[in-house]
Amino acid sequence: MRMLNEQKVMRDPIHGYIHVDLQVVWDCINAKEMQRLRRIHQLGGDYFVYHTAEHSRFAHSLGVYEIVRRMLEEVQSLSDYVSAYEKMAVMLAGLLHDLGHGPFSHAFEEISKKRHEEYTVSMILDETGDIYQALVKEHPRLPQDVVSIIQYRYKKECLNQLISGQLDADRMDYLLRDAYFTGTDYGRFDLKRIMRTMRLHDGKIVVKDSGMQSVEDYVMARYHMYWQVYLHPVARSYEKILVALFRRMKTVYQTDPQLLQEVKMFHPFLKEEVADQTALFRLDDCATLYGFSCLQENEDPIIADLAKRLVNRKLFVYETIKDNKQVEDIKHRVSKQGYDLTYYVHVDMISQRPYAPYSGKNEKDAVWILKEDGTVIALEDASVIVQALIHAKVRKDQKIFYPESL
Ligand code: CA
Repeated sequence: MRMLNEQKVMRDPIHGYIHVDLQVVWDCINAKEMQRLRRIHQLGGDYFVYHTAEHSRFAHSLGVYEIVRRMLEEVQSLSDYVSAYEKMAVMLAGLLHDLGHGPFSHAFEEISKKRHEEYTVSMILDETGDIYQALVKEHPRLPQDVVSIIQYRYKKECLNQLISGQLDADRMDYLLRDAYFTGTDYGRFDLKRIMRTMRLHDGKIVVKDSGMQSVEDYVMARYHMYWQVYLHPVARSYEKILVALFRRMKTVYQTDPQLLQEVKMFHPFLKEEVADQTALFRLDDCATLYGFSCLQENEDPIIADLAKRLVNRKLFVYETIKDNKQVEDIKHRVSKQGYDLTYYVHVDMISQRPYAPYSGKNEKDAVWILKEDGTVIALEDASVIVQALIHAKVRKDQKIFYPESL
């Protein structure tokens, strides 16, 4: 394992400092695929709702890396169980887990037809890429091992849990970071306390009974952040227009591709076949916003209008759906104003369970509490609060989005 001559530290508002000792981690941070994440907003279009939500996927990725690094240092039983090589691999998995994100995060997955996890894997395993080169320089097996941790199939379960379990470094960082940068206080919880009470038990990550209150707080933080931030109707309105614009471009691209000459960066995502990681690499927020800016002058009136809406934040208004008549009335009104309903009226249903209990099948879904007598039970069986949450009704929200009347 190659160490840096001197530890690198980077300031971070969430964790104080990010510490880097390993050469391979530093090389990956400086790789072009990681640097691209500086140009991807962590919360996609949420900065149209929360004006300070300007933080990048790059900052979040460093944060996940730092939480993993601290867990490996702090949790003695975990530290003893994994080799130095595995520590390196899991820290890298934390750092690299979001490489494959497109612009405007999850909405973009509807456009690209490929999930960001799959793009992440193709980017890490792309032999021509900087990341792959940095990893193999350290160890020939490293790209594969990092990928298998990200895909939750590494042989030591606890390493997978650290990156994508119910109580993983990814969620812990994004909740704290998104709460900080949106100015909402709901996402806060006691990360230090959770780390102090984490243990390794039978190869799994568990939390001691005495840390349960901080885990409950974390579960609640997640619930509130979903409704306050991630599923905010204005952010959903932005996403509806984004997806509608790409759908319109796809149609126009088939019949009249020269109308889209100016926006070559979008072409791979308008074709039938799924775009590869090189096309995704080129498409960051800057390229996308430049594209929208050009499209404002497009000859196709729908493309021009939707692009203007995105650039100038003239988003769709929304109503909570009560009945079918309301939906039909809105469609009728919007259609009378001359709008094409395919692009201008969107019905959207979302639902969220406050906490999904462990089904007994997928270890990934469990949070384990270590009781004082040494037994291990699922969080929902240990906590009355979480128990109440799993019996709570699934919260549903059905909205209709459409342009404001002229
Ligand atoms: Ca993430």
